[in-house]
Parts: sequence; C-alpha cells; structure tokens
Amino acid sequence: MNMPEYVFTPDLPVTLPVLGSQQRFPVGRVFCVGRNYPWPDTQGESRVPPVFFMKPSTCVVDAVGEVPFPTVTEEFVHEIELVIAIGEGGANIPEEQALAYVWGYAAGLDLTRRDVQRLAKRDGLPWEGAKVFDGAAPMTAIVPVSRSGHPEGELWLNVNGQERQRDSLDSQIWSVSEMISRISQSVSLRAGDLIMTGSPAGVDLLQPGDVISAGIDGIGQLEMRVGQRP
Ligand code: MN
Repeated sequence: MNMPEYVFTPDLPVTLPVLGSQQRFPVGRVFCVGRNYPWPDTQGESRVPPVFFMKPSTCVVDAVGEVPFPTVTEEFVHEIELVIAIGEGGANIPEEQALAYVWGYAAGLDLTRRDVQRLAKRDGLPWEGAKVFDGAAPMTAIVPVSRSGHPEGELWLNVNGQERQRDSLDSQIWSVSEMISRISQSVSLRAGDLIMTGSPAGVDLLQPGDVISAGIDGIGQLEMRVGQRP
C-alpha cells in the first residue's frame, strides 16, 4: 500500500511517560467526567447520570515545571483527578468486563477557567472555552495496572502547603467500571483514550506563583508552579 502524501508533516501523537519503562503512552482522546464526588451543593442528586465532556489530547502535558496561567480568565482553578488510561478499544463494554480495558492510571489536573464555565452553564453553552487551553491537563507518568492494581486510596491537592482537596477514591459516585461502560455506550473507546474521573470538593482559585502539590495514593504525585498572568 502506498503511504499517503500529506500537505504538511502531521504531528506525532502526544505521549505520557510510563512509570518504570522507557516506553511512552500515546494519548488519544481525553474524556472528562463532571460531578463524580459528593460536593456540598450536590447532596441528594448523587446518582444523576454522569456528565461527559472532552479535552483534546493537545491539552495533555507532563506534570512538571510550570503551569501556564491561561488567557481570558480571572478565575483559574485546580481539579485533582484520577486518570484512567485505556489499553484496548471497544464499544458497549459491560461493567463486569470494563476493568480488563484499563492499561494503567495516572494523577491529573483538570485545570479550568471557572468564570468562563459559569457563563457557559448559565447560558447553556458548550464548556470548551472553560476547559480547553494550552497546558490544561497536566498528568503524571502512567502506572501500568499490572504494577499498581486498581487504586483505592485517597487523592489530594495542596496549594502552597495548605490542603485544598482530599477525598477517598471510594467516594466516587460512578466507579471506574461504570464510567468505562457508560462512555463506551456513547462512543467506541480506543486504545490510548484517557478518562479524567472528576474531582472532589475544594476546587479553588490559583494565583501566579502558587505551588501546587498533588497526588493519588499508589499512583503518582506532582509538583508544579503557576506562571505569571499572560
Ligand atoms: Mn473535572
């Protein structure tokens, strides 16, 4: 078969490091789940079907160094999240088989322009303006599930040494299996897809110069500094 001729050289895939390996994980799409932990304002609606949105793979960066402060926001906020890395594609995956599709896990930040998100919610508009910008999804190395098992500890996030977010993965309203199954009913999952699984209460503002430290028991930790306003 002849290779196609491209009108320009296509980008190589975005990749993440793999813990304990020289190989890197090629990132496909990034599915994000909203409202997957009990927050003070969501009591009583805990099993409302999960909301999905997406970030393009180009938002994914290694969680090292600086978090660029995004343009067009006055309210830049952090969300620490468990990230599922999918290793095998499939559609209509039954819950009881879903864990077999997991290649590994990472800790990630679903960075958000909260002011833009608030306007989008108010006006019934899409969320991309709030969720998609350069560097919007820093992630640790992916830990193969063969090494970590399926995580069951806590996730946490500190800013300048002060704890902002901490909860148990047990608090997730929709389990890893349920999220994989649900998303695969909507669209075929592919190897390389990531699922960001929602953030516990305590999401709050970031300021230039803030130092974020965050992690997930048994999965990974990150430390990054917030850059200057553009
Ligand atoms: Mn989120």
